[in-house]
Amino acid sequence: MTQIFSGKEVAARISSQLADEVSTLKAENVFPKLAIVRIGERLSDVRYEHGALNRCSKLGIEVQVHALPEQTTQQELVNVIRAINEDPSIHGCLLLRPFPKNFDDAYVRNCLAPEKDVDGITDASLAGLVTGTPTGFSPCTAAACMAVLDHYHIPVEGQNVVVIGASLVIGRPVAMEFLKREATVTICHIKTRDVALYTRTADILVAAAGHRNLVTADMVKPGQIILDVGINAAPGGGLCGDVDFEHVSPIAAGITPVPGGIGSVTTSILAQHVVQSAAKATLP
Ligand code: NAD
Repeated sequence: MTQIFSGKEVAARISSQLADEVSTLKAENVFPKLAIVRIGERLSDVRYEHGALNRCSKLGIEVQVHALPEQTTQQELVNVIRAINEDPSIHGCLLLRPFPKNFDDAYVRNCLAPEKDVDGITDASLAGLVTGTPTGFSPCTAAACMAVLDHYHIPVEGQNVVVIGASLVIGRPVAMEFLKREATVTICHIKTRDVALYTRTADILVAAAGHRNLVTADMVKPGQIILDVGINAAPGGGLCGDVDFEHVSPIAAGITPVPGGIGSVTTSILAQHVVQSAAKATLP
């Protein structure tokens, strides 16, 4: 029987642990606070912000939203980021991206102080993933993948892991998370000649390309663990992942659905990172 991994269940467990940690911090006069910076009204940004606000308010984490107009200049955005860096009451910052096309993405994201980079977007945080230096945090979606595996007691060490997707948002960081845990990792991307050749060898398959029905039944092998990170528009409305869930799920040992899988865990991880950052701020 295929196990359907419930993101909501994982999120609920993380949240219940966090609620205790937030209470402990507040008793020490530390009030965890997240800043969210958004430009314009892009639907995916507004939805993510809404999810983060909901999660944080349930946990007693304060959120300061900077909703900047569409015409915001790069310098104005950088000024907001610098003010957040210098505000000791803010422990984490979520910068919603992509930025407007004329902005220098690398310059702007690297203006954020790595210790407040709770979604792992700065080069310092990403470098820390490679070197193992604890600078900043892992990107929330990569951390969410590992949280789902941990929750369902899926072993990672020594497993063959195949990741489809090589972006800095999810593909590369999640590959590094697996490597850190001593899995053998293969990364496939748009130029990979025969993706199926690799996916069939995986014990754990992560689909993070952003293409509906990219992973079909002939690309998987019985007993695999499949994490579907993709978020795509479904033909009849709603959302779907990168995996042809109907035909692939009966073959897998365990799989995350879309919606209700990895995406449901991401905001809990974000809240967890804010709380961890606030706890660090209490250290001498
Ligand atoms: P991206 O477009 O930046 O990167 C996509 C990657 O997939 C690239 O490395 C590309 O080479 C590879 N790719 C694309 N088509 C491919 C194909 N046919 N075969 C093999 N590789 C292919 O996208 P991203 O920001 O990395 O996001 C990927 C997906 O994950 C999107 O659907 C996005 O919405 C989703 N996502 C989900 C969450 C979540 O919380 N669940 C968070 C972030 C992103």
